[in-house]
Amino acid sequence: MDYTLTEDQEQLRRLVEEFVARDVKPYWEKLGYEDFPWPLFRQLGDLGLAAIPFPAEYGGGGLDYSSYIVVLEDLSRLGSHLGSVLSVHGLPQLIINHFGTDAQKQKYLPAMARAELLGAFALTEPHAGSDAANINTRAELRGDKYILRGQKIWITHGGEADVYIVMAVTEKGKGAKGVSSFIVEKGTPGLAFGKRERPMGLPHHTREVFFEDCEIPRGNLIGREGDGFKVAMTALDSGRITVAATSIGTAQEAFDHALRYSTERRAFGQAISEFQGIQFMLADMAAAIEAARCVTRKAAWLRDRELPFNAIASMAKLLATDSAMKVTTDAVQIYGGYGTSEDYPVQALMRQAKIGQIVEGTNQIQRMIIARELLKKFKE
Ligand SMILES: Cc1cc2nc3c(=O)[nH]c(=O)nc-3n(C[C@H](O)[C@H](O)[C@H](O)COP(=O)(O)OP(=O)(O)OC[C@H]3O[C@@H](n4cnc5c(N)ncnc54)[C@H](O)[C@@H]3O)c2cc1C
Repeated sequence: MDYTLTEDQEQLRRLVEEFVARDVKPYWEKLGYEDFPWPLFRQLGDLGLAAIPFPAEYGGGGLDYSSYIVVLEDLSRLGSHLGSVLSVHGLPQLIINHFGTDAQKQKYLPAMARAELLGAFALTEPHAGSDAANINTRAELRGDKYILRGQKIWITHGGEADVYIVMAVTEKGKGAKGVSSFIVEKGTPGLAFGKRERPMGLPHHTREVFFEDCEIPRGNLIGREGDGFKVAMTALDSGRITVAATSIGTAQEAFDHALRYSTERRAFGQAISEFQGIQFMLADMAAAIEAARCVTRKAAWLRDRELPFNAIASMAKLLATDSAMKVTTDAVQIYGGYGTSEDYPVQALMRQAKIGQIVEGTNQIQRMIIARELLKKFKE
């Protein structure tokens, strides 16, 4: 496995770096907490960045996951959160591409690749987060329609997104095997949006989503009835690599700030970077970022080769998000009192890093997935 970027990946990285510095940073600084960054999202489409790892025949970039994570990491610099927008948009694309019919792919993927349609992934419910097979939203087949009833919470892009992949129970009492997944379009009667969540360190683009006798065509079922849990877990296996990449971007950003600040801030007659105590913190931060990046690249590398990658994807998510939490916390420490001030960037990165340890399966759930894989051979 080669850890250096290919020439194409290096070009892609430069394109993203310029885009972030030129367009993202100034726009993001003025953005209100409830405003969705539509112009930047549309620009992702114009730049060919909104569907990097999806097939060119459906308008995607036709590139590998290794290239995708390079872009996600850089889009997550400057505290912009645009990397997370792209990563969440990627989940419905991945599902439709992997499990959808040709008609579903034709209808949604090209428009999502052009960033004309924004996607969302709706699994979590008030009483079912980690225990995702325990959802209550029901989907009942009546003639050639499914009728959806229920409530989702914490749905990123809720209210903004055009295309929702919704997990709902089609057969009660069968647990994970009774779950199916559906495409629900914004504007469908009975699809309603509730209150905005206000997660720390992030824009408020996360909403409750309600299905009130929401009637969708039978053709919006993805795969077969009962496939829904598998569909969701398959998407999350890949999604975890993208959460890892965005967290590495956050950690790198905090580290760069802390490194620079340590050479500027003086105490006891010298720059604080001259103190061994600070140097050791910086060294540990850099080592943690590099280690997380290597595991994340390995997870993407395995996925690109269609080799088993789900345990290593969980390791990447676990290590990258835990490292991001530690690195951003240490960055605040290096800034001292100023680190806690909203006038400086590191506290926001620290709050943002915390979210990574929770989304797409908490880090306890990642450990369960890794342990299950480790113990599998003793159960066969
Ligand atoms: C900002 C944000 C955006 C989100 N976006 C989306 C989205 O777009 N779509 C979506 O469907 N969901 C989304 N979520 C929901 C997210 O996936 C859940 O919050 C997450 O899966 C955890 O579920 P929970 O909050 O119900 O916690 P719970 O499942 O109630 O867990 C509470 C605690 O118990 C621990 N725990 C639970 N079970 C076990 C166990 N077996 N062993 C050990 N510990 C355990 C957990 O790790 C956690 O520490 C989002 C959440 C946030 C914060």
